[in-house]
Amino acid sequence: MTTITSQNLVDMFLAIAGAIEEKKDHLSELDGVIGDADHGVTMHIGFSAVKNALTGLDTGESDPATVFNTAAKSFLNAVGASSGPLYATAFMRAGAAAKGKGDLDRDAMIEVFGAMAKGIQDRGKAERGDKTMVDAWAPAAEAIAEAAERGAPLAECFDAAAKAAEEGAEATKAMRASKGRASRLGERSLGHMDPGAASTALIVGVMAKSLAAA
Ligand code: ADP
Ligand code: MG
Repeated sequence: MTTITSQNLVDMFLAIAGAIEEKKDHLSELDGVIGDADHGVTMHIGFSAVKNALTGLDTGESDPATVFNTAAKSFLNAVGASSGPLYATAFMRAGAAAKGKGDLDRDAMIEVFGAMAKGIQDRGKAERGDKTMVDAWAPAAEAIAEAAERGAPLAECFDAAAKAAEEGAEATKAMRASKGRASRLGERSLGHMDPGAASTALIVGVMAKSLAAA
C-alpha cells in the first residue's frame, strides 16, 4: 500500500518545477496567442520559488501539511499574475486537507488532490467551459474520484486524473474564453488551447509519474 511522505511530496514539487522550466517557452507562446505571453515565465518563477523554499525544508521534521503550506506561501509571494493566488489557494487547501495526518495514504492523497482542484475553482470563480485551468482541473478531480470509488490503486487513480487533465486542456481549443485576460478576445480565442489548462495537464501528468514512483 502506497504511503506518501513529506519527502515524496518535495520530490513531486521538484519534478513539477523541472517540467515547467522545460516547457516555459511553450506555455508563454500559448499565452502569447490569447493572453499576455507570460504564463510560462509566471509558472517558472512560482515553481522556482517553491523549489527554493522546499530545498531548505527538513523533511524529517516537516509533515505533508507543512510542505504544502510552504509551497503556497512561496508561490503567492513570487507570482503577481492571476495564476499566483489560484495555485497558492490550491496548495493551501492541500495543506488543510493533509493537516494533522502525517504521511498520506491513498485516500488522503486523493482527498488532497480534490481539495486543490476545488481551491482553484473557489478562488477564481470560473466555471467549466470558461476556457481556464478549471477545464483541466475539474475533469481531473472527477476522474480521480471515480477511479478511487472503483477501488483503483493510487497510481492508477492519478493516471486517470492525468488523462482527464490532458483531454480537458485539449477541449479548451473549442471554447470561447469568458474569464481572465483571454476573455477580451471573445471569438478570437477559439481554436487555441488555454495556457493555464496546458500547464495543468503538465503538472497533473508529473504528479502522476512522481507519485507512482513513490
Ligand atoms: P495573467 O492572466 O495574469 O497573465 P497567467 O498568464 O499566469 O496570468 O495565467 C493565465 C491563466 O490563468 C489562463 O490561461 C487561465 O487558465 C487562468 N485563469 C485566469 N483567470 C482565471 C480564473 N478566474 N479562474 C481560473 N483560472 C483562471
Ligand atoms: Mg498571462
